[in-house]
Amino acid sequence: MIGRSEATILEQLGIGPDSQGGCDGQWLDTAGDQIESINPTTGAVIGRVRGCSHSDYEAIFAAASRRFASWRMRPAPQRGLLVRRLGELLREYKEPLGELISLEMGKIRSEGLGEVQEMIDICDFAVGLSRQLYGLTIASERPQHRLIEQWHPLGPVAIITAFNFPMAVWSWNAAIAAVCGDVCLWKPSPQTPLCSVAVQHLCNRAMAEHDAAGVFNLCVGGSEAGGWMCDDRRIPLVSFTGSIPIGRQVAGRVASRLGRTILELGGNNGIIVLDDARLDLAVRAIAFGAVGTSGQRCTSTRRVFAQRGISGPLTEGLIAAYQTIEIGDPLVDTTLMGPLASRVAVTAYQSALRTAVEQGGEILTGGRAIDRNGFFVAPTIVRAPAHDRFSIAWEETFAPILYLFEVDTLNRAIADHNAVSQGLSSAIFTESMRSAETFLSARGSDCGIANVNLGTSGAEIGGAFGGEKDTGGGRESGSDAWKGYMRRQTCTVNWGGDLPLAQGIEFL
Ligand code: NAD
Repeated sequence: MIGRSEATILEQLGIGPDSQGGCDGQWLDTAGDQIESINPTTGAVIGRVRGCSHSDYEAIFAAASRRFASWRMRPAPQRGLLVRRLGELLREYKEPLGELISLEMGKIRSEGLGEVQEMIDICDFAVGLSRQLYGLTIASERPQHRLIEQWHPLGPVAIITAFNFPMAVWSWNAAIAAVCGDVCLWKPSPQTPLCSVAVQHLCNRAMAEHDAAGVFNLCVGGSEAGGWMCDDRRIPLVSFTGSIPIGRQVAGRVASRLGRTILELGGNNGIIVLDDARLDLAVRAIAFGAVGTSGQRCTSTRRVFAQRGISGPLTEGLIAAYQTIEIGDPLVDTTLMGPLASRVAVTAYQSALRTAVEQGGEILTGGRAIDRNGFFVAPTIVRAPAHDRFSIAWEETFAPILYLFEVDTLNRAIADHNAVSQGLSSAIFTESMRSAETFLSARGSDCGIANVNLGTSGAEIGGAFGGEKDTGGGRESGSDAWKGYMRRQTCTVNWGGDLPLAQGIEFL
């Protein structure tokens, strides 16, 4: 079965052939560059979005800033009502939104719908959170003094997002930031402008119903627009999701003005499979992790470290699983792998494979671009030589390439696994409690996410999401990640009649 047609999807979401890319509750008559949205399945243009000029950005910032003055004083549970309404609208439009993700970014329909479900889930989480933002009471050393820690809204927050989760990454930030009392300026990837326009339409409806125009704002543009946000001292926090090289630039620019960042950068995720692992689980998890979203998730599985005894059957199982993967139009129900997002990505895939072979890798399956319209490649498994002699595997190539390493021991596997500069997601397959706990211990995985008997991708929103080392150290989404969107204030109240000084200091 094929999902709805392109025209029906766009019509349902209120998107015409030419859209404006600037919005503060009202669409602006923007004057920036025109950005074309390309369907990676066909290579054809889906629509055009007029990006923001610098003066559009200033107008949007001014509206957001005006809203912040009142929004920060609105009780958090009332702020939650806006997010609750957004969640309802996302439920109502889940299908066309998910299909638009498939159209514009290329992930298969069920993953597109999953991305929208993730937005719904984070809205639910944020609504609950709006009733339990909390602080601490700390014992004071002084008599009749109360020492407390409280959290206040931070201000206008910039959210710069990557193409591969063109809606959900925004929502992880925006839903939480909004209940925390912040207002948001979203700069989406120029590869997926229509996804942002569609979400903004729903934001506009929710904001109009809750007297909240200016809480969610959109500023479509490229690196220049991102740069305006990074350099803008009026923006206390830039939440950036994207590649490590750009993240490094963003971190430097924001740090130079002593602003805050939340950095969610590239990963290079590995799975260790020990001899005692359940082979069936490992094969399915690795195949989904490596091939899902055509290998274009930050959490995609790129490296497997198989213990010698299981390496053969695991390799055979994976090759067999890869033969069953249908590649094609992501809106067709039977398709398991859609296209890469762009022609540039196809070139990066080909170049990585050339290097892999030069460095001693052996292509076991796949290894070629597919000759058809759009940006299709075959999912690829490479048998790799020793990890320390195979530098191509130390990089994140955003494509469905899986490197298989053979190891003797758990300790060797952990050492090789941790030897790369990225530190996002990791997993182990084993039936041994001791091995699993070793992997989770302080001398185990050095990643922000470590799983046992499940793969590296497909995180739930309830946990804090993010990674260590070059992945940037940021945390978003669940747990107490909300603290990143607020400012902490330590307050001491003297309710006695004397003025004792801390540390027993005597003065006057
Ligand atoms: P990218 O770095 O090319 O672009 C990301 C965003 O940065 C885009 O909106 C882009 O327009 C903007 N940008 C570009 N130059 C800028 C500049 N100088 N200043 C400010 N903004 C600028 O990344 P991409 O290709 O869109 O996404 C893929 C990358 O994102 C991969 O490395 C992937 O691992 C990573 N990613 C990480 C996570 C995570 O949570 N850790 C999630 C999704 C994607």
